[in-house]
Amino acid sequence: MSKPNKNSKFKELNVTKETYKAIKNVGFKYMTEIQAEVLPKALDGTDIVATAKTGSGKTLSFLIPAVELVAKLLNEAPSTYCIIVSPTRELATQTYNVLQDLVCFHEGITSALIIGGENRKAQSILLADNVHIVVATPGRLFDHMRTKEFDYKNVSCLILDEADKIFQYGFEEDLKQIINRLPKNRQTMLFSATLSDTTEALIKSAMREDYYSINTDED
Ligand code: ADP
Ligand code: MG
Repeated sequence: MSKPNKNSKFKELNVTKETYKAIKNVGFKYMTEIQAEVLPKALDGTDIVATAKTGSGKTLSFLIPAVELVAKLLNEAPSTYCIIVSPTRELATQTYNVLQDLVCFHEGITSALIIGGENRKAQSILLADNVHIVVATPGRLFDHMRTKEFDYKNVSCLILDEADKIFQYGFEEDLKQIINRLPKNRQTMLFSATLSDTTEALIKSAMREDYYSINTDED
């Protein structure tokens, strides 16, 4: 389970009042260690590589920066600004549900869950509508990237959750293709419980050189 750190309050973060209200609404007051390390840097736009064990609170470490990025762009024409890649449908669904809690006070932030096994046409309509945040599994995401309905040229934030599992489940090629097609000028955040050689190689090829690396499992 995540251990909130009594020295780090969400209140001290530089986030919109809508996001802060949503965090308070789910009953969280103190950040976990990984959240306290990642959030200030991620909110500034820094690339992040974060390893921390399961249950340490990684989801909010990337969802809060994703929501804040979109909140700053709400006066622009709607566009997909952020893509979150998860290894499984279950994990993507969980992440999507946490995202709904986080945006509930933000009027106008839109999101879509793009996973295998669900209706492609319905997903295509959502993507054509330029939803701000996409939570997806790699295979189905790449399918949509090969259609004209999905315009991803304004994506400025890519989040890879459970990166090692993305590779373990055989999505290496899909992920490479996805990254190749996304705009180069973007923030990339990678989260994992472990770091394999494949993941290290991905970090070298897909992230800025000055990325911030944090591992909260070390003493
Ligand atoms: P991870 O992705 O690292 O496995 P999660 O983001 O799924 O961890 O969070 C694990 C659990 O901890 C979830 O039930 C989540 O609601 C809870 N949690 C996350 N952040 C906090 C916090 N700051 N205070 C209390 N509980 C939290
Ligand atoms: Mg997680």
